[in-house]
Amino acid sequence: MTIIAQNLDLIRKNINKAALSSGLAPDHVTLVAVSKTCPAEAVQEALLAGQRVFGENRVQEAASKFPALKGAYPDLELHLIGPLQTNKVAQAIKLFDVIETLDRPKLAEALAQEIKKQGRIPRLFIEVNTGNEPQKAGVSPQNVPNFLAFCQKGLGLPIEGLMCIPPFDQDPTSHFVLLHNLATQLDLPSRSMGMSADYETAIAHGATHVRVGTAIFGHRSAPLAS
Ligand SMILES: *Cc1c(COP(=O)(O)O)cnc(C)c1O
Repeated sequence: MTIIAQNLDLIRKNINKAALSSGLAPDHVTLVAVSKTCPAEAVQEALLAGQRVFGENRVQEAASKFPALKGAYPDLELHLIGPLQTNKVAQAIKLFDVIETLDRPKLAEALAQEIKKQGRIPRLFIEVNTGNEPQKAGVSPQNVPNFLAFCQKGLGLPIEGLMCIPPFDQDPTSHFVLLHNLATQLDLPSRSMGMSADYETAIAHGATHVRVGTAIFGHRSAPLAS
C-alpha cells in the first residue's frame, strides 16, 4: 500500500467516525482530495486507491494535469477551490465539475454567459468570507442572501451550497457554525468546510464536503528528503 493510499484509508475512517457520531451516514460527507502542487503521479495513486473527487486551486495547473486523468477515469470529479478570474471562466467550465469559489456578481454574470454558450453547467458553491477578512475572497455573510438571489433569480444559476476558508489564526468552529446556519437558512444542501487540521470538527458542525490536501499528499513546502 502506498503512503497516499494509507493516508486516504485513515482519513476515510476518521470521516466515517465523525459522521456516525453526528448521527449522519458516512456518505453524507464527500472527501475532496486537494492535489494542488502535486504531480499527476500522486493523483494517479489516489485514483488507484479509489479516490474520485479532487480539488485544485489554479485553473492553469488543473488544465495541465486533469484532462488526461479524466479521460482515463470518466467518474473523476474535479472541484475548483481557488479564485477564478473572469478571463478563465470558459476554460474553468470546460474542466471543472464543481466551482466552489463563486464570490462576486461579475463572475456570476460571466459564468451564466459561458454556461449558456457551452451548454455545460458546473455545480456551484458561493464562497463566504466568514471572518470578514479584507484581504480574503468571498461574500460577506450579511451579503450572501442578496448575492444568492441575484445568482438564482437574476441569472438562473443553480447554487448547491456555501464554502468557507476560516481565518488561519482562529478556532474555526464559530466559522463552521456560521456557514452551516447560513446554508440552512437559505435552504442550500451543501457546505464545503474543513481542511487537514479540522475536517472532523467541520463534519461535527455540518460539513458535507471536506477539502483535505496535506493529510493525503504530504506537506507541499517540505524540502526533499536527502
Ligand atoms: C490548499 C487548500 C485546502 C487543503 O488544505 P490542507 O491544509 O493541505 O488540507 C483546502 N481548501 C482550500 C481552499 C485550499 O486552498
